[in-house]
Amino acid sequence: FKRLRQNLKKTRDALGAELTQTLFDTLDDETWERLEEALIMADVGAKATAEIVGRLETEATTGGMTDPAALQDRLTELLAEAARPTGDATIDLRHGPTVIMVCGVNGTGKTTSIGKLAHTLATQLGQKVVLGAADTFRAAAVEQLQIWGERAGVEVVAAVPGGASDPASVAFEAVRRGREAGADVVIVDTAGRLHTQLPLMEELAKVRRVIEKQLPGAPHEILLTVDSTTGQNGLRQAQEFSQAAPVTGIVLTKLDGSAKGGIAIAIAQELSIPVKLIGIGEALEDLRPFDADDFASALVR
Ligand code: GDP
Repeated sequence: FKRLRQNLKKTRDALGAELTQTLFDTLDDETWERLEEALIMADVGAKATAEIVGRLETEATTGGMTDPAALQDRLTELLAEAARPTGDATIDLRHGPTVIMVCGVNGTGKTTSIGKLAHTLATQLGQKVVLGAADTFRAAAVEQLQIWGERAGVEVVAAVPGGASDPASVAFEAVRRGREAGADVVIVDTAGRLHTQLPLMEELAKVRRVIEKQLPGAPHEILLTVDSTTGQNGLRQAQEFSQAAPVTGIVLTKLDGSAKGGIAIAIAQELSIPVKLIGIGEALEDLRPFDADDFASALVR
C-alpha cells in the first residue's frame, strides 16, 4: 500500500494541495469550486465529479458536517465508492488451463503488463504459465515478450514448430501447447496497431475464434490495456474495443506516471467493465489488483 501511495504521487500532485484537510478549513462556494476543478483536472469525469462535489456540499451545508477531517474522510469514501468496479473484478484461474487474451493499442503497456502478470502468476502463485506471442506484426513485440518470458521463467510460444507464424496460428498453438504442458494459465498477446490492411477488430475476433476452437469456453478473460496518461482518450479506446470484443477487464497502466489517475473512476462510472489490474511502474512486481479503497486513500491523504 505504501508503494501504491508513492507511485500514485503524480495523480495526487495533480489534485494539488487541493485534496488536503486545509481545503475544508473554510467552507464557501470557492471550496466546492476548487474541489470540482481538482477532480476534473485528474480526469475523474464530469458526471462523477458533479455527484461527488454535490453530495459532499449537501452533507456539509444541510447535514452539518463541517469538521475538516470528517469531510476529508467522507471525500475518500465517496471517491472509493465511485471507483468501485461494476461487476466481478477477480480473475478466475480455475480453468484448465485458464486462457487470458490481452489486447490494447500499441504503446499502452500490453507487453509489459503480460510480462508482469506472468511473473506474478509464476513466482507468487506458483502457476505454470505459457505465453503466446500473437502480436506477430511487430518483430520487436515478439522479441520483447520472449525477454519478459525469460525474466519470469515461463515458456513463450512464438510460432508453430516448422510452420505458420500468423496471429491466429500462434494463438492456437499457444493454447495447444498450454494444454499439452499442463499449464494453469495461457496468456495470449495480440496485435495492437490501429490501422493496417486487415482491420484490427476483425483480427481479434479471428484470434478469439481459434482459441475457442482449441479449447471450448476459452478465452476465459479478455483484458484490455488502457494507458492512464491518456485520460479520456483511453476511455474512448475502451469503448471502441468493447464494442468489438467482449472485454472482461481493464488493465490500467502507467498510473505511476499519470496526472490523470482519476480515469479509474471515469471508467468505473461509464463502462460496465471492471478495472482488474493496475500498472504502477516498470518493474516486474509493479502490477497490482485494483482496490478502490486503497486507490482513493492513496489519492487523498
Ligand atoms: P505495448 O506496445 O502496448 O506492448 O507497450 P509496452 O509494454 O512496450 O510499453 C510501452 C512503454 O510503457 C514501455 O516503455 C514500458 O516500460 C512502459 N510502461 C508499461 N507499463 C507501465 C507502467 O505501469 N508504468 C510505467 N511508468 N511505465 C510503463
